[in-house]
Amino acid sequence: MEEYDVIVIGAGYGGVTTGALCAKAGKRVLLLDKTNQAGGKAQTIQRNGYAYEMWPVLSLPADDSRFHELVAELGVEDEAPLIVPEGDNAIELKYRDDKGDWRSYIGPSKQAEDPLAVEGLESTFGVDSDGVEKMMALVGEVFGMSEEDLDTHDDTGMLGWMHSFDVPDPVIAYMSAILNLVFVAPVDRIPVSEGVRTLRQLFLGGGGRYHAGGYGRPAEAAARYIEEHGGTFLPKTRVERVLVEDGRAVGVATSAGEFRAPVVVSNAGIQPTVLSLVGDDHFSDDYVKRVETLEPGLGMVGVRYFLDEPVLDTGMIVAFSNESWWDTERYEAAQRGEWPDVPLIFAAVTTSYDTSLAPDGHQIILVGILGSPDPESELNDEAIERAEKAIDAMWPEIRKHTIRREPYTAKHVSNMCRDSAVPGQGGECIGLSQVIGQCGGSKPDARTPLPGLYLVGTDAGGYGCGTHQAVDSGFNVAAMVLADHEEARV
Ligand SMILES: Cc1cc2nc3c(=O)[nH]c(=O)nc-3n(C[C@H](O)[C@H](O)[C@H](O)COP(=O)(O)OP(=O)(O)OC[C@H]3O[C@@H](n4cnc5c(N)ncnc54)[C@H](O)[C@@H]3O)c2cc1C
Repeated sequence: MEEYDVIVIGAGYGGVTTGALCAKAGKRVLLLDKTNQAGGKAQTIQRNGYAYEMWPVLSLPADDSRFHELVAELGVEDEAPLIVPEGDNAIELKYRDDKGDWRSYIGPSKQAEDPLAVEGLESTFGVDSDGVEKMMALVGEVFGMSEEDLDTHDDTGMLGWMHSFDVPDPVIAYMSAILNLVFVAPVDRIPVSEGVRTLRQLFLGGGGRYHAGGYGRPAEAAARYIEEHGGTFLPKTRVERVLVEDGRAVGVATSAGEFRAPVVVSNAGIQPTVLSLVGDDHFSDDYVKRVETLEPGLGMVGVRYFLDEPVLDTGMIVAFSNESWWDTERYEAAQRGEWPDVPLIFAAVTTSYDTSLAPDGHQIILVGILGSPDPESELNDEAIERAEKAIDAMWPEIRKHTIRREPYTAKHVSNMCRDSAVPGQGGECIGLSQVIGQCGGSKPDARTPLPGLYLVGTDAGGYGCGTHQAVDSGFNVAAMVLADHEEARV
């Protein structure tokens, strides 16, 4: 049986970050993933002459991110160049007003650096100067709150907090649409502590980073780094069980045999790890109950369009009305079949970042819409149907030039990356929901109660938006594992 210092289950952005940083520190690392390659939910696949992700994945912050730190730490900047969008047409906000007219704001990735942003937002949302003043007061507070003050807001919801500034409905719609897409959670339950910190990253660093060659390239480079530094990466290898001896994790049983290490880091999700890979008999009843009742984030479902000529000009598009964003009440209404006039639509036009992803002149458009994390939910098919109606009305040219169309739902997300260990869970867009009771001081600890077993990725150890949270967690968990190793606590 082969021995390692650290075994990492899962090569998502959390797993590869921790694995590569441990390898850099001289540890012998085994990285395992059941899929064909590194990148997890954000991996880039090659098929039919196109390189693409299974769904829209763009990153926030675009600049000065944990991804920049990762590629610099590993010295792989050239292998995996990060594309921070430049120019005045990086993002488009499409807002459908109460009369049913679509209005557009097209601007740079960093709105804070756009001298015309206020004017643009004013005219797009039809907000008067009083409304703009209130919005600026809200933005001022996003920047003004101290870290200590933010720490006291783990239990304050973003929606109520935004309403306390008395901003007009279109501003609530705009901010809520952004928060829905960043956290894929109901706006009323996103805590101010996490929401404000992440909005700050968005306002300062901009949104919409992509990576040359595909979003998953830095993950592939990190997996290669592990192999080049004494470790092993085994794709297409499912971990079936975490081995436990004398009350501690000592290795894994996989489809390719057993491997041992004093540290096992799981990127497979807290519920699949604790309830399936380890088993509830190794944890206290209280811990098992807490894990079983943790809430999954919402799902994101949608369609991949492959076009024989470019139709859209911007790299990232968000389309919404005052009704599109979801708080708890609206999500429940959608589950009852009561839908908004237009669902919140997110589109990543990846060929706008890198034309080499597709045959000459072709365009890839990856569309996402809020949905349920339940792989069996019927709401998800309806979300796609309604979004496509809106897309056909907004951009009829897309259908005319579509040579392939691939819908995806929460079932595909779960099948690819996250086992469903609890009914209704598995197809979450991000991971564990970033809601009150599961963030800040209440976020699950990356050190599990089972000595030697750690969690990494979007469920523990980091904060922020999607993949950025996973990389943040990867850095923090690597530091934790190395410090524990140093202190011989593991
Ligand atoms: C539709 C959609 C749109 C998204 N859009 C964005 C976006 O625009 N921006 C953004 O930042 N994020 C986005 N995300 C979220 C982002 O992709 C994830 O939050 C992030 O990639 C999660 O990283 P992770 O490291 O926590 O885990 P994951 O990426 O989930 O990786 C976990 C890995 O573990 C592997 N694994 C699981 N179980 C086992 C096992 N038993 N044995 C071996 N391997 C196993 C899986 O195969 C997987 O590779 C989107 C996600 C979806 C689904």
